[in-house]
Amino acid sequence: NINENITKDGRKIVCEWFNTPIVNAKGQVTGIESLCEDITEKRRAEDEIKLKNTLLITQQEASIDGIFAIDGKIISINQRFIELWGLSPEVSPAESVESILQIMLDQLVDPAHFLSIKEYLQEHNEESSNNEAVLKDGRIFESYSAPMFGQENQYYGRVWWFRDITARKNSEELIWKQANFDTLTGLANRQMLHDRLNQEIKKAHRAKQRVALLFLDLDQFKDVNDTLGHHVGDNLLKETAKRLTSYVRDGDTVCRLGGDEFTIILGGLESASNVERVANDLLTKLAQPYYLELEKIYISTSIGITFYPEDASEPEEMIKNADQAMYAAKKKGRNCFQYFTPSMQKTALSRMSMIKDLRAALPGKQFELYYQPIVELASSNIHKGEALLRWQHPEKGMISPDHFIPIAEETRMIMEIGNWVFYEAVRQTIQWRSSCNPEFQVSINTSPVQYLNEDFSIQEWLTHLQSLGRSAQSLIAVEITEGLLMESMGRITDKLLMFRDAGIQVSLDDFGTGYSSLSYLKKFDIDYIKIDRSFVRNLHPGGDDMALCEAIIVMAHKLGLKVIAEGIETAEQKELLFTAGCDYGQGYLFSPPVAANEFEKLLIE
Ligand code: C2E
Ligand code: CA
Ligand code: CA
Repeated sequence: NINENITKDGRKIVCEWFNTPIVNAKGQVTGIESLCEDITEKRRAEDEIKLKNTLLITQQEASIDGIFAIDGKIISINQRFIELWGLSPEVSPAESVESILQIMLDQLVDPAHFLSIKEYLQEHNEESSNNEAVLKDGRIFESYSAPMFGQENQYYGRVWWFRDITARKNSEELIWKQANFDTLTGLANRQMLHDRLNQEIKKAHRAKQRVALLFLDLDQFKDVNDTLGHHVGDNLLKETAKRLTSYVRDGDTVCRLGGDEFTIILGGLESASNVERVANDLLTKLAQPYYLELEKIYISTSIGITFYPEDASEPEEMIKNADQAMYAAKKKGRNCFQYFTPSMQKTALSRMSMIKDLRAALPGKQFELYYQPIVELASSNIHKGEALLRWQHPEKGMISPDHFIPIAEETRMIMEIGNWVFYEAVRQTIQWRSSCNPEFQVSINTSPVQYLNEDFSIQEWLTHLQSLGRSAQSLIAVEITEGLLMESMGRITDKLLMFRDAGIQVSLDDFGTGYSSLSYLKKFDIDYIKIDRSFVRNLHPGGDDMALCEAIIVMAHKLGLKVIAEGIETAEQKELLFTAGCDYGQGYLFSPPVAANEFEKLLIE
């Protein structure tokens, strides 16, 4: 009999009553003895245990972990554990631990490993463990096991937790792949290249061996992309990746750095000579035609090669070296390989400082246009002038356009520079028209890179000329190099036709150094051709170059084109050309390119 009572001082106590009958000697019940025990504390402890139990069961059943407690036999198993391991739902504590263990082992890819952990923990029951287990169906479980010790350190058994981490593992793997592999080709990416190069360098350091890094860049890949579309370009890159991986040895790493740039690490090399064979094989292999979308595509490759430890000791440095060597292979004429040399590094450094300085040249007003007269051979009158760019470098003095134009082209700075040349030449010509000759014209040089660039807005130039009034279109003529016409006619035709429609004359520069046929020029409405100075230099009666110049002049005239000969340095060259029918001449014989104020004196003479 239990009840709650309130004491006089207001405490609440739980009492348990024990009633004992009082029996006299004759066996008669004479009364009842009531004993009251205060069980408040006991009650509280019992309640607490109940609560803890409920909490434990709730935690256990609500857990995302499968939980399994054993002490030789099963203490408890939660529902999640049954689901994870696919046990029959009515698995009971009477079931033997062995039979459940067997069900688990049957599902593991590496049951022996799990068993060894279990056995180890049996012998070291104070230890806990944290592991991953891969199941045959592809799931990955994280397992955690800990012993149960009582307050007096008595061992009660062990609890195992299992958690399905498949989704997390998959996304981790995906992230890892994205961080280390190129999605298009499946090859290692730049990040991975670094890691692998690092490893190979360490290995080679210990074994006193070499590592070679090959840097490959497809030649004219951009043309494939532009003419046949990105889709074809992508397939070509995938095919290239396949060819590369099928060629190299198993341990060698092939990477795609992006675009059409690939690298190959050749580790553990005894000597450098094998690499030469590899490079040659690769060139042959990549030069095989690609069959893509009914097209047969030929593409060549340029390869740069550098070695650890001879050339560099750090991954980043090796990549830079190999890149520079590749660049040199391109310059050598493509479809070849080139070893890195220290002088390449010097070139690259001075190139970098030139790029930096070049960026400052326009804002620093360091450019100036020089002008060279183009003379009518029959009358010796100045027919027009050619504007030639000069860069007055603050420390290095005058730098020749042959040195900085290629760099301006590579870095696309030629876009801004070319615009500056145009506006400056227009301004100067207008001034000379009013001061010297109302019909004067200046010819400006334009770079192929300008035409191939989307941003090159000829319309902007034409609008500027129109704003200057009637006959302003004859202020300027443009020179383009012969190579431009041949290389990528499709893309530039529109732009050339815009010049034609606006009535702006076009000269074909450096004629004879490219491969264009004269009849081809007709299509573009070229007005002048300029015979390259390399032909003029060797002119003498009856010579090869004489015959060539004569043929060019005759053909050009038949097509209605005028001819300008460049680089005339002697009176003899002038005479020979004049006799051959050449219309105009340009060269030191008449005048070198000179600053605008000097040129003005020539005009007034
Ligand atoms: P280019 O268009 O063929 O220009 C003619 C080059 O021949 C000029 O060199 C000129 O100084 C040089 N020259 C003229 N007469 C003679 C001669 O009698 N003998 C010899 N040996 N050379 C002579 P420059 O000024 O150094 O220009 C070199 C090249 O730089 C030009 O070749 C042109 O392709 C490019 N360039 C110059 N200015 C510009 C420009 O404003 N824009 C672009 N895109 N290129 C330019
Ligand atoms: Ca020129
Ligand atoms: Ca020229």
